[in-house]
Amino acid sequence: MQLRRAARVILVGAPGVGKGTQSERLLRRFPQLASISTGDLLRTNVKNRTPLGIKAESTMKSGGLVADDLMLRLISSELRNRGWLQNHGPPEVMTLSSEAISASEMRNPDDIAFDAFAAGRPMSPAQASEDPTASFILDGYPRNAAQANSLEGIVPINLAVSLKTPFEVVLERIAGRWVHEPSGRVYNTTFNAPKVPGRDDITGEPLIQRPDDTEEVYRARFQKFQEASEPLLEHYAKKGVLVEVEGMSSDEISPKLYDVFEQRFVM
Ligand code: AMP
Repeated sequence: MQLRRAARVILVGAPGVGKGTQSERLLRRFPQLASISTGDLLRTNVKNRTPLGIKAESTMKSGGLVADDLMLRLISSELRNRGWLQNHGPPEVMTLSSEAISASEMRNPDDIAFDAFAAGRPMSPAQASEDPTASFILDGYPRNAAQANSLEGIVPINLAVSLKTPFEVVLERIAGRWVHEPSGRVYNTTFNAPKVPGRDDITGEPLIQRPDDTEEVYRARFQKFQEASEPLLEHYAKKGVLVEVEGMSSDEISPKLYDVFEQRFVM
């Protein structure tokens, strides 16, 4: 289905809710959408030994969050490379002072935008493209309200979807997950049970439960998610772009999500 307006979307959902599944389905249904994953972008920068990658590497290894200014540069240069962020030129460029012109021209537009952000000035130089082909779902960013605020200066998100499945339902799904480690085949005792309990259908070998797939670990992850996402959702509610989509399963959520997209970006 063709989008008629640019969709700039984030999906927010607790671990296990099926954000990845919904993202994939949306990309298939709306081919103009792209998925931009900050984790993937960072890993590419690390692999290519870019200055940003080198700076971010140790934080990523320790499992911490990469600094806000680096994340902003990462996102804005990605959008710029795709041609989705246009610079109208900072005010200095329009003066007749050759000194100002050359000084500005020598600088990376992302740095100019970032300096404006850091100085608390609105970043009028950059503007998000409204072309429907400039449509994306951000994956892994923003992770908290501070990042959401920073992002606003570069690209205004026009839809934030909060994906909701009751805690107990997700927990049951996770606790019922059994894996055949050598092949990666995944079973679920509630909706995709192995033919013989505890055994892989193909090889007959024993299945295991991942150490992370326990109630205790999930509760802790869920709690962490709640704490981080609440202010994020509040941010988007205030902007008037937050929509909640609820369902007991991914199949129940998808059609509702498609409706939201069609109402906002197709009709
Ligand atoms: P992910 O693939 O989303 O789990 O990201 C891998 C790593 O990249 C994370 O553990 C962080 O160190 C870093 N990272 C990804 N997204 C962000 C973000 N929005 N803010 C800060 N760090 C991030």
